[in-house]
Amino acid sequence: MPKLLNLLLAVEHGMKKPVWDCTMCGQCVLHSTGMTCPMTCPKTLRNGPCGGVREDGHCEVKPEMRCVWVKAYDRKVSLPLPTVWK
Ligand code: SF4
Repeated sequence: MPKLLNLLLAVEHGMKKPVWDCTMCGQCVLHSTGMTCPMTCPKTLRNGPCGGVREDGHCEVKPEMRCVWVKAYDRKVSLPLPTVWK
């Protein structure tokens, strides 16, 4: 069984790393963040944005990137999901 688990983990990481820069944190929330990984937040905040989001939606730590939580919200509302899931 451990061999099968290791194989599944290798396949999961092989698929998620190139697409979402997955770190295999073990607490995946892609399904609820519009397929945006919050681990890419410089502060690795997992429960929402910090208080420093810039007016244009960019990150306070890395001004060149959009806040991952702003991106997560935008993606979540634009996913073609039933209204009750949003
Ligand atoms: S602005 Fe957004 S991405 Fe940047 S540190 Fe705060 S929560 Fe993280």
